[in-house]
Amino acid sequence: MINYNRIIEILKSNNSFIITTHVNPDGDAIGSELALAYFLQKLNKKFWIINHSPTPENYLFLDEENLIHKYNPDFDEVILHAEVLIAVDFNTIGRTRSMMEIVEKSKAYKIIIDHHRNPQNFVDEIFYDIDEPATGNIIYKLIKTYNEDFIDKKTADALYTAIMTDTGSFRFERITSEVHLIVADLISRGVNPTYIYNKVYNEMSYEKLKLLGEAISNIKLEANGKIAFMVLDRKLIEKYVESEEEFDVDGFANYCLSLKSVIVGLLFFELKNGTKVSLRSKEKFPVNSVAEKFGGGGHLNAAGIRFDGMKLVDVLPKVIKQTIEDLKQYEGEL
Ligand code: 5GP
Ligand code: MN
Repeated sequence: MINYNRIIEILKSNNSFIITTHVNPDGDAIGSELALAYFLQKLNKKFWIINHSPTPENYLFLDEENLIHKYNPDFDEVILHAEVLIAVDFNTIGRTRSMMEIVEKSKAYKIIIDHHRNPQNFVDEIFYDIDEPATGNIIYKLIKTYNEDFIDKKTADALYTAIMTDTGSFRFERITSEVHLIVADLISRGVNPTYIYNKVYNEMSYEKLKLLGEAISNIKLEANGKIAFMVLDRKLIEKYVESEEEFDVDGFANYCLSLKSVIVGLLFFELKNGTKVSLRSKEKFPVNSVAEKFGGGGHLNAAGIRFDGMKLVDVLPKVIKQTIEDLKQYEGEL
């Protein structure tokens, strides 16, 4: 259980804040950061939202005031001297990538607000609850504890986006009646669910949809059809998308799970200098424990791993082998 009053005490008794989140931020990361910033605005605090990655295009509609900055060393002074640094929706410092060094050096009082398990101790105080389906739910409860009138339309939009995206549009585990009650409250504050859904999911580019099409037509099966995997190598990615680094393929891996026989879906994404793996599962198969064996992490049904400097061809057999082993344990037999 999170001590919301303690977080409020930290917010009230300080004046300058840095808010940051993980590389390749998702809707929960961006929505939670903005809702928290809007809360600080109302408390008349100074704040900077600074992220390693640029905001993915489909979430830009939330940031009408352009509050989110992409990190560059010009921000080092403010990061160094802010009173409080809030790490939102992640719990290992490595996920701040280029900001890691300055976050470490910063003299700020550091806190984590998150819903992933096994937080790393790089901060002064950790507020997390793995039963929450999104960090957005935590920010909602935080603001509500202080003053529910602070949940205005723009805050509600940000929180709704956070919760919708991290629950797979209200489908995943950890969905409870409480989550629906929170969402109902957000809608009563002016959120338009159709508008938000279309903004987030129905603005894909033609090229990205074609890339998804190729990824789907190349799906391969392992372990008697219980594992499905997709491979996006540089050649395929560059055929469709001009991208230097990792970009948002949110949702691609879930298509693996649409097959009846499948329990685990894997997506291998080749980076310029490394490989990113997204893991998804059905039932109670814990993909986070597969991910943790390679230094990644996440949730029971959705996890990720980043292999810096490792080639996709080397990573792929290792991850598949480990997944098969874990699946054997889980199923008894394959
Ligand atoms: P995705 O596959 O969509 O990037 O991530 C799925 C989930 O796994 C997310 O909730 C995210 O928090 C977690 N995750 C993704 N990549 C990593 C990683 O490299 N390290 C850790 N610890 N968690 C990750
Ligand atoms: Mn999240």
